[in-house]
Amino acid sequence: MERMGSRLFGMKNEFEDNPEVIKANENAPEMGFSIAFRDPKKYGMSFSKRRKMLNPKIIIKMVREVNKTKKSLKKNPPEPKQEASKEFINELEECAELIGVKIGYAKLPKEAIFKGQSVLFENVIVLSMEMDREKIDMAPHVETGKIIVDTYHELGVRGNKIAEFLVKNGFAAQACHPLGGPIGYSPLAMLAGMGWHGRHGLIITPDFGPRHRLAAVLTNITNLPITEENEHKWIENYCKTCGRCIEKCPGKAILETAITQDDGRKTHIEMDKCFPVFGEDYGCSVCIKECMFHRVGYDKLKAIVEKK
Ligand code: SF4
Ligand code: SF4
Repeated sequence: MERMGSRLFGMKNEFEDNPEVIKANENAPEMGFSIAFRDPKKYGMSFSKRRKMLNPKIIIKMVREVNKTKKSLKKNPPEPKQEASKEFINELEECAELIGVKIGYAKLPKEAIFKGQSVLFENVIVLSMEMDREKIDMAPHVETGKIIVDTYHELGVRGNKIAEFLVKNGFAAQACHPLGGPIGYSPLAMLAGMGWHGRHGLIITPDFGPRHRLAAVLTNITNLPITEENEHKWIENYCKTCGRCIEKCPGKAILETAITQDDGRKTHIEMDKCFPVFGEDYGCSVCIKECMFHRVGYDKLKAIVEKK
């Protein structure tokens, strides 16, 4: 199981022999899926449930897309352009809009690279793709599980499209698949100013609340319009007054107060309690369904907070 996971979802370091890569720190955090694949008995879903949620066609398509991610690296131009014009950035944003993803920009901190992994570039285009509201409202349900898998696949396709678009325009790119890519996407989405993490550990954005999946495309473009600001920090204070996800989580996996993990990261989630429920209950997602930013919406909550 672990070998299959590492072959399909990039847990194997693709660039072991490349001297120019950016390598993870010694004490880097471990990828969540890597932990789950290592102990499938503890965290995995029963065969019958897995069969209902993961139809073979989507698995084949997803594997094809992961392979495309790897093969596309060979298409990077030998001497890529390094600076993008304003017009090109506008075109990139139009391209993202057209294929249904929101994007933001960040510089990759080494701490965001998972243990044992390495990447080619430190300039990041972060991608966020919405998940179907109706299916999330059914959570936990087989249909919720299916939409999670479908979104992972679709976002993988779109990440590859954005990488292709960059390469066609003379830049170099490395698409990182949303399922088991080499870097943690949530801290990057925060750095990109796209949203802020809720107590459930998910990034809450104005467009989708917590109801989305993240991925990234790394590129050699050195002048991405990176913003230093994040206007969503107020979410942290709102969360302190709420706590609905803590109350509703079926695994009792969301903590009132953040804990510090072995790798130094702070989190409100006890993975050991979340993973078994996530695995057994079709990707659970009760914390997304119950989050006030999903139920009421970002704009309305912001207006209420600002009135006080
Ligand atoms: S996925 Fe389910 S078990 Fe995990 S934190 Fe969310 S609600 Fe809790
Ligand atoms: S349910 Fe409440 S506490 Fe939990 S993440 Fe959403 S807003 Fe924050």
